[in-house]
Amino acid sequence: MGNGASAESPTTVQVKAAPESSRSAPSSDQASSSKSSKSPSHSKNISTKAQAKQRGTRSESSTPRKGKFEEVEIRKNGAPSRPSQRGQGHSGASSVAAKQGKNSSTPGGQTLENASGQEDIVFETFYHRSGKEIQCMYLGNIRYYLDDWGSKEWQAFPKRWYNEGLLVTNTVLKDEQAAAQASQAAQQSRGAASGSGAGASGSGEAAASQQGAPRSRRSGDDREGILKHPTKGKIPTYIYQRKHNVHFFYDQDQGQWSRMPIGWELHHEMVGRLVNQVEEMLPSWGDRGDILALLRQCNYDIDECISTYLALEGDPWLKVAKTSKEVKGSEEKDEKIVALEKKVKELQNELNKERKERQDAEKIVKDQQEKLTDLEVNYKQAEAQLSSMASTRPKSSMRPKTPQVVTTVVKEETVNPDDIEELNDTAKTVRKAHVQLKMEVQRNFESLGGMMAQALKHVKMLKNSGQGQVEELEEVRALYRKEALQRRLLYNQLQELRGNIRVFCRARKDDRVDNCLKFPSDQDIVAIHPQQGKKMFTFDRVFGIDTTQEQVFADTKPIISSCVDGYNVCLMAYGQTGSGKTFTMMGPENNPGINNRAIKELFQVCLDRKETQTYKMVVGLIEIYNETVVDLLSDDAKVIDLKTVGNKVNLPGLIEIEIKSPDSIKSVMKKGDKNRSVASTKMNSTSSRSHLLLLLRVEGHDKVTGSVTRGTLTLCDLAGSERISKTEAEGQRLVEAAAINKSLSALGQVFQALRTSQLHIPYRNSKLTQILQPSLGGDAKACLFVNVSPDANNSSETVSTLTFGANAKQVALGQAKQNIKKGLGS
Ligand code: ADP
Ligand code: MG
Repeated sequence: MGNGASAESPTTVQVKAAPESSRSAPSSDQASSSKSSKSPSHSKNISTKAQAKQRGTRSESSTPRKGKFEEVEIRKNGAPSRPSQRGQGHSGASSVAAKQGKNSSTPGGQTLENASGQEDIVFETFYHRSGKEIQCMYLGNIRYYLDDWGSKEWQAFPKRWYNEGLLVTNTVLKDEQAAAQASQAAQQSRGAASGSGAGASGSGEAAASQQGAPRSRRSGDDREGILKHPTKGKIPTYIYQRKHNVHFFYDQDQGQWSRMPIGWELHHEMVGRLVNQVEEMLPSWGDRGDILALLRQCNYDIDECISTYLALEGDPWLKVAKTSKEVKGSEEKDEKIVALEKKVKELQNELNKERKERQDAEKIVKDQQEKLTDLEVNYKQAEAQLSSMASTRPKSSMRPKTPQVVTTVVKEETVNPDDIEELNDTAKTVRKAHVQLKMEVQRNFESLGGMMAQALKHVKMLKNSGQGQVEELEEVRALYRKEALQRRLLYNQLQELRGNIRVFCRARKDDRVDNCLKFPSDQDIVAIHPQQGKKMFTFDRVFGIDTTQEQVFADTKPIISSCVDGYNVCLMAYGQTGSGKTFTMMGPENNPGINNRAIKELFQVCLDRKETQTYKMVVGLIEIYNETVVDLLSDDAKVIDLKTVGNKVNLPGLIEIEIKSPDSIKSVMKKGDKNRSVASTKMNSTSSRSHLLLLLRVEGHDKVTGSVTRGTLTLCDLAGSERISKTEAEGQRLVEAAAINKSLSALGQVFQALRTSQLHIPYRNSKLTQILQPSLGGDAKACLFVNVSPDANNSSETVSTLTFGANAKQVALGQAKQNIKKGLGS
């Protein structure tokens, strides 16, 4: 960083006045404009105060400023400095590297001609390396900048700044390449300016890493490597180049931004909170510095950090060695761990073997027991037989000696003594077998007991060897598995819906003019470009001039109703003033537009589900005017200071009104209308130069499961997209035009980045995109209406609008489902 900026603190960049260094020698531009100023009929003031100062005559109302201003002169038909760049239309706009200090005397820039051959004003953003963003304008060969959005005064752009930052043309309409360049340049310069060091390249590599595909080895690439892991063996590695948030602090002594050490960062409130959250989830981790290091790698994304850790959970290298001595020690430990793990495996095998043996023994015991039972039964039977035989046999004294006949009878009833002998022998054998078996069973039981005790000992040992945190980890793991499952579920849905921007085109009805638009099908529209002739554009749906409000609503209904399921839904209307944006979004009272119908529909969906769900709907109404967010439902049109926390945008203090019936939205709109600042324009005196946003939040409680879904519906009536001509370039109107240009450029850049699946989506480039962020990225569903007029006089603007819509249209990404499972908000 050069000395020039070292004296300036990042928050106190002097943008209010041209610094001394730029006062002395006027640039050639200034010289030429001075020349042209000799012809007063061709000049026009855009900053009376500035000019008054330049001429040394203080204007009555002027407030004293720090520096003098260079001549601010606009020639009505001033020749552009680079004739070769003329006639490029909007798409010719590209970034201008102001860093090239050699050019500072003739700063680069383009002057564009609009369809009517009239010179356009080029709006630009200057990214000062201090991190400050400054709105600029290039007109009639001179570059100006704006103090702040509340000011009407354009100051001459100080020459010194050409060496201190980057100028980027705001490109509302552009070809893809120029858009990507502009977006990247903005990102890069912001990175450089804030000292974040964020590189804009490498998104392709990051994409590859996201797909999880192992990279093919390319020779000579020293970012490729191999890691020898103690348990996993050889692991291929690659240093991916990704965009990352890098935390810097402003070093007062050095007068520059420096990278923040981990020790410092841990004391930072927001980062400290993130670390705490990870620590709570993974109490076994313990090392806050280590947590922060992984958080940095994960771009401060807690979920990614935790899942990365858990994916490797139990890995010996997760405990980081602090010094090289420790590294050596840890290597020794690694070896020990490997040996121990081997031992554990052996023990486990042994245990398994013993388990099997035990099972076999148990089987034997069982068999033996069965045999024993059989034998016992036999024995009992034999005994019974024996005793019955003994009792039926007469005593010898009572035995009749004669006659033979009797002997025969008695012979039948008595037992042969040999039989008795035999039975006695059997009984003896059975008794012996019984005793033997008893002994065997006893032995088996004893050895079984021993085996069991041993097995228990092994199990205990194994458990203890698991670092004593098995249970704790198991708990966390179970919790995480559940979480991960839910997240995967959501992720799948998200993938399906990511970047799901539908673009609808609506041509307004206008009885005063002939319709110069053609509608070959319900997806195509043909417009006439003043220079290029007929041009055809294709959209998800084209609504011709006779389309009714009902028909338009019918096609958006499925998207709208999904906000009840917990989705963020956003509908926007883009187009020149008078093209029917307000008609489409709000509509007249007797023929309401999307807002009334949407709220009616949402009430209906809630009613249909009242058996299982209860819903609450609240609505807020804001206006973005000159990059200022105004709460239209507050009595004093309060200004809201946007707060961004991570990916979330907060509107602190926003007044929200609960909607209890479909009709209550009318009173809300009435109140908002009253507060709305309106500035007249040439085209339509009632139309506004600001963006109007209706923010509806729907919260659903499931009576059965107790789960909560939170969805939002944002209806956005954008400010007129028409270009401002030099004849209108005066005071407040010019600032408004710059603000509209800035926010619509930012919106175009966001669409562009989403469409090309870039890692960085430049939401922060304007208040509009910042507020719309939750409704444009992630799992949100967005719907852009491009509104056009059938009037031939508007054909240039019509083609511009259609081009913007075509740029926003997604390449065939996943189709949105109409009935998506309930969100998992809680
Ligand atoms: P914007 O908001 O884009 O400046 P408006 O919605 O205010 O434009 O429309 C300008 C005029 O055109 C209004 O008087 C409106 O009633 C009328 N209008 C717009 N679209 C239609 C349409 N589809 N059918 C009939 N009148 C329309
Ligand atoms: Mg309007």
